[in-house]
Amino acid sequence: MRLDKYLCGATELTRSQAKRLLKQGEVTVNEQIIKDAAFKVQPQDQVCIEGETISVRGQRYIMVHKPEGMVCSHIDDGGYPSVFNLLDEPKLDELKIVGRLDADTTGLVLLTSDGQWSHRITSPNSQCPKRYRVTLVHPIDDDAIDQLKQGVMLNGETDPVSGDVERISDNEIWLTISEGKYHQVKRMCAAVSNRVESLHRQQIGNLELDPILEEGEWRFLRDHEVSQF
Ligand code: URA
Repeated sequence: MRLDKYLCGATELTRSQAKRLLKQGEVTVNEQIIKDAAFKVQPQDQVCIEGETISVRGQRYIMVHKPEGMVCSHIDDGGYPSVFNLLDEPKLDELKIVGRLDADTTGLVLLTSDGQWSHRITSPNSQCPKRYRVTLVHPIDDDAIDQLKQGVMLNGETDPVSGDVERISDNEIWLTISEGKYHQVKRMCAAVSNRVESLHRQQIGNLELDPILEEGEWRFLRDHEVSQF
């Protein structure tokens, strides 16, 4: 990734502020002053601004705004391209997907090379909440909302699953779930005799999809975002 883009992704700097710091000789990569905004940063590089390390990237942590019609796998599947096609990063095979989304679901997908970090988010024991904006085919009544809150049985599961629900409109809810079962949101909505028209993941734990990212865009996580998990 270009150094100026990298600096903006890892800090709150704008592109022009990043370029000014580069020009002033305030940025080092592996202790060498670099003034070239187009310099290519490698995952393992140590980048400092005014002597302060902004990242020692032994590991990579990335958020992607997944568009509809892409699959969360390393290879294209069922006629859908892989989300990894969106990234211009080296060694993509080192990155794991932290909780998949269906091909028709949009929103927040995390990728990382750090297996322990990924495990802390996806392990059933960690009960990490995932927040979805759900648009339903049929209006949802208060009774169905209560059932989702109290727990519904899904085919093939032994225990009921529940979620926090907030109504947005007749056909739209926010649904927050703490497990990551296969097609969980769609199956929960089917269990209350409804059907998902569209699904968008907005948040994982306290980490929200950055509104600056258009569908198909991505950025590195900032250090404070990584350390939330
Ligand atoms: N639940 C689903 O049904 N689909 C997703 O993509 C994510 C959660």
